[in-house]
Amino acid sequence: MMNEKGAHPEPGDFGPLADDVSQVLYTAAEIGERVREMGQAISQDYNGRRPLLIGVLKGVFPFMADLLRAITIPVQVDFMAIASYSRSTRQQGFVRLQKDLDEPLEGRHVLFVEDVIDTGLTLSYLLRSLRARGPASLEVCTLFDKPQRRLVPIPIRYKGFDLPEKFVVGYGLDYRELYRNLPFVGLLKADVFGRDNGV
Ligand code: 5GP
Ligand code: MG
Repeated sequence: MMNEKGAHPEPGDFGPLADDVSQVLYTAAEIGERVREMGQAISQDYNGRRPLLIGVLKGVFPFMADLLRAITIPVQVDFMAIASYSRSTRQQGFVRLQKDLDEPLEGRHVLFVEDVIDTGLTLSYLLRSLRARGPASLEVCTLFDKPQRRLVPIPIRYKGFDLPEKFVVGYGLDYRELYRNLPFVGLLKADVFGRDNGV
């Protein structure tokens, strides 16, 4: 069954997957509206330039897809992938690239697109590495922010929503690679975390 816009199934259509969610924080419609506003702001600010949007796989891909289609000026997109890391290596600001960008950044207006900024450690490392490649500008756009959790300062140019200091899933964000397909964002029930293979 589709909602009135026909874009996504309703939460109730997800069965056991949605049953694992204790609370919806942002609905698909709320996310869609905010992403459209962000796309409009980016289109205005970068008018006359041709920004390069950069995302880190995998969590950002639904946001990137929707944001890209909310931007009405010429725009390009590229992705990188990083290895998952332990907490201790992360705190040393250490990230291993599994897939680098296809595009050179020199002279480009780069917009780094994130799903959620938490401690900021990963992003801080990546921004340093990208800045060294000589972009004309480098700004950050994140759908979600957990400002209370920040360990290193991150200048954010475009922000969708603040989140509580809690673990969320949906709209690309996973728990053990599941729940990325939920079109809304929510909290998981406590008992889900103890489970062996989820759902
Ligand atoms: P940090 O900012 O701590 O270096 O790392 C941010 C990354 O941690 C995000 O890109 C995301 O992959 C993951 N992350 C942070 N908070 C959450 C959350 O609430 N849910 C999920 N699924 N991932 C999160
Ligand atoms: Mg991420």
